[in-house]
Amino acid sequence: VLKFGGSSLANPARFKDVADIAAQYARDTPLILVLSAPQGVTNALLALVSAAQHGADWQPALDRLHTQFSHLVEQAVPGLSDYQQKQLQLATQQQLQALADYAKGIALLRHCPDPVQARMLGTGEQFSVALMTALLKARGLDAGSLDSTRVVRSQGDYLNAGADLPATRAAFAAAKAQGMPRIAVMAGFISGLANDEPALLGRNGSDYSAAIIAAGSQAEVCEIWTDVDGVYSADPRQVKGAKLVDALSYAEAMELSYFGAKVLHPKTIGPLAQAGIPCVIKNTLNPSAAGTRIGID
Ligand code: ADP
Ligand code: ASP
Ligand code: MG
Repeated sequence: VLKFGGSSLANPARFKDVADIAAQYARDTPLILVLSAPQGVTNALLALVSAAQHGADWQPALDRLHTQFSHLVEQAVPGLSDYQQKQLQLATQQQLQALADYAKGIALLRHCPDPVQARMLGTGEQFSVALMTALLKARGLDAGSLDSTRVVRSQGDYLNAGADLPATRAAFAAAKAQGMPRIAVMAGFISGLANDEPALLGRNGSDYSAAIIAAGSQAEVCEIWTDVDGVYSADPRQVKGAKLVDALSYAEAMELSYFGAKVLHPKTIGPLAQAGIPCVIKNTLNPSAAGTRIGID
């Protein structure tokens, strides 16, 4: 399982980098790609919801999303076919229309029900999956999307659900029995409740998605790809001279993330430790760096 965060999907060049990494791994092993929304998208979606709830103008937030999505589709390299590009543009247009329809309703009610908010905020992840799947297929690779609402099973709140690991294991086995592409591309952040409605795993929750599907599919390893070389002794953007750590135990990684190291969502380690799956933090901008290895050696 390879998870790519928003920083790894910030622009067209990053999308290409991620496709390169996936293509290389797929030569040796089947894989599941777990994708975040492109950087900034979830915040723009939140701004849209918040503006509508407060009776403010939500159109600028929607316009920002339109601009960012269109740019990513138009500049996608290596090139998508005209047909693929048109299909993606159409799908994106439909997503944006659905957001506008929801926003009108929210503005009328001055309230956004949690199930609606969960659907709206997951739009960025859905976009990433559609674009990445098209990019991989354009290279002739056996790629397809895996519906996270169906396979990542959860319980609890619509906006902050927790994993249901036995149900995830069963759902993954059922999906696999129906056939799985060599590269299965899945949205992070979004899970499915027992009533099959989408529920989010909390802000920054795509790391947790990767851990849940890694445990549910008994993956060999769960790699979290981000924009730094691994886990440091402190946030390298805040602390000069922070030291890169080669290896950490599950307990050490859990402690670090619970006390706020943003590089890993605090709920990530639980499912991996339980299933005995190692976790590696890697840098999309520097793939040859070894990264930080978490768990058993
Ligand atoms: P992604 O978009 O890949 O999910 P995040 O921004 O959520 O990326 O997490 C990566 C960021 O975490 C890094 O850019 C870094 O600034 C921050 N960070 C905080 N604490 C640490 C730490 N101890 N080690 C590494 N990075 C850290
Ligand atoms: N896109 C979501 C967020 O920004 C989830 C994630 O990226 O992990 O919170
Ligand atoms: Mg993150």
